[in-house]
Amino acid sequence: DKDCRTATIASTIRVIPDFPKPGILFQDITTLLLDVKAFKDTIDLFVERYKDKDISVIAGIEARGFIFGPPIALAIGAKFVPIRKPKKLPGEVISEEYSLEYGSDIMEMHVGAVQPGERALVIDDLIATGGTLAAAIRLLERVGAEVVECACVIELPELQGRKRLGDKPLFILVSAV
Ligand code: AMP
Repeated sequence: DKDCRTATIASTIRVIPDFPKPGILFQDITTLLLDVKAFKDTIDLFVERYKDKDISVIAGIEARGFIFGPPIALAIGAKFVPIRKPKKLPGEVISEEYSLEYGSDIMEMHVGAVQPGERALVIDDLIATGGTLAAAIRLLERVGAEVVECACVIELPELQGRKRLGDKPLFILVSAV
């Protein structure tokens, strides 16, 4: 069942202390990808949730949203739109800045990739402070899309990233402590 699958998924995620810098507990999903059943269960759980929700666009966040987003998009019959770090997308872009613990960062999306009125789902591997997902929501809403939900494999609940998403629903598979 569902709980059994999420427990197995959780067990395949490797935690690496002090990466990329001291004090960070890095949640490494590359070990989830090595487990064929865990990877398939991860995609299936998202597909089961979103297949009948009339979603026309999956927006995946660089870099690990590019791993989980496309198989979900293909399975539910939605297009895939990459949301990238600055100066990576070759066409005309719109940008959104968001604050980090120290400084800020920027996310970009191609102009014309998403049409007004489209129903979008935002995918990433993990939500920490929620700043990245919040910037992705703003990009999609600026072009007139409706962000139905955000979905991640992992949540770090202590950082309370959900608060930065306002009233936008967030679906997660695994809660890391
Ligand atoms: P945030 O904007 O703070 O919610 O950070 C989320 C983004 O940073 C996601 O794209 C994650 O892949 C990455 N990230 C943040 N913290 C971690 C962590 N502890 N382990 C792995 N990835 C992380």
